[in-house]
Amino acid sequence: MMKTKLTSALLAGTFLTLPALAHERAVDFPDTPDGRVVLAADLHTHSVFSDGEVWPSLRAAEAHRDGLEFMAVTEHLEHQPHKADIPHPDRNRSYEIASEKASKAEYDDLMIINGAEVTRGPPHGHINAIFLKDANALLVDDPKDAMKAARAQGAFVFLNHPNWLPQSPDGIARLTDYHKDLIKEGLLQGLEVINGTLDGHSEHALQIALDNHLTVLGTSDIHGLVDWTHNAGTGGHRPMTLVLSKDRSQAAFKQALLDGNTVAWSHNDLLGREDNMKAFVGGCLSLVPEAFDGKYTVLNVDIVNACPIDFTLINMSDETFQNTGDAVYAKRESRTPVAVRMKGIEADIALKFEVANAQVGFRTPLVMELRSLIPAGEK
Ligand SMILES: [Zn+2]
Ligand SMILES: [Zn+2]
Repeated sequence: MMKTKLTSALLAGTFLTLPALAHERAVDFPDTPDGRVVLAADLHTHSVFSDGEVWPSLRAAEAHRDGLEFMAVTEHLEHQPHKADIPHPDRNRSYEIASEKASKAEYDDLMIINGAEVTRGPPHGHINAIFLKDANALLVDDPKDAMKAARAQGAFVFLNHPNWLPQSPDGIARLTDYHKDLIKEGLLQGLEVINGTLDGHSEHALQIALDNHLTVLGTSDIHGLVDWTHNAGTGGHRPMTLVLSKDRSQAAFKQALLDGNTVAWSHNDLLGREDNMKAFVGGCLSLVPEAFDGKYTVLNVDIVNACPIDFTLINMSDETFQNTGDAVYAKRESRTPVAVRMKGIEADIALKFEVANAQVGFRTPLVMELRSLIPAGEK
């Protein structure tokens, strides 16, 4: 992957703003400052084996192009509009076909996860179970029994699109008593705060996830082509979950999901728990100051953004900028210069920003400090 190459190219750059780089379709993220890897995952996808419009092998091909490390196949178990054309008594077939494609040598960065979407009316709604050994075991009458069957297989279970208008006409995500019971009984561990079919995010859902210790998730819930739905390949990308993991193994990935170490991402919107968000954004953004000789009291500093996300930063430092106001737009994979009015010669520079596109609670943006040593200038 491109990670170190891009990050080091950005860090080695001069104080000129780089020309816009050709954006890679395959997303890639720097490690967090505490040494974790950031794994890109889409944990909610469909094919013709439920109500999607493509063959499962094409889902694997798209995921590979998008730079995903993990993709879950989650066909609706009960909603089967193509059943007459594509009979498949074994509900693991879609996973098997996608896995076979992903087993090819050139796909070795991608792992396919078996899953299913238990699709019922209210109050159950749509709930995904992933890391299944056998999806057929979830084909039972009582949806709660399906959840129990999933958990008996060691599955990770999450509630889909709680702000879906047919279920929530005012667009506000709420947790029903039924779902509160599922949480209490250990049958629900995650919540979608971003779902691609809704093309939006839910800060209400984020707050619910935080209040109930549910893992924060963003998924595409893709049914058509990723290219057409999300402009992948022409600057866009599918919604996904960025998982902060000890290493790239499936065991570490699953443990990170269980521990809630995720950030949900769509367009330039990021949602997550504050500690995760701080770690993730801390991997993306850094300060590279010019040497400071004190002749003038303005210090040139580049804000380096090594991530494929445009950041909107609001300056909250005591220091102000000579070249721009307090709103700074740190474009994806580039360097943004700010000229800082310093109070004197100092050994390091610290700038405090509100990161307006990174939410860590209901209408609560992340606030974080970026800090770097200032190279000594000639006196
Ligand atoms: Zn569907
Ligand atoms: Zn779905």
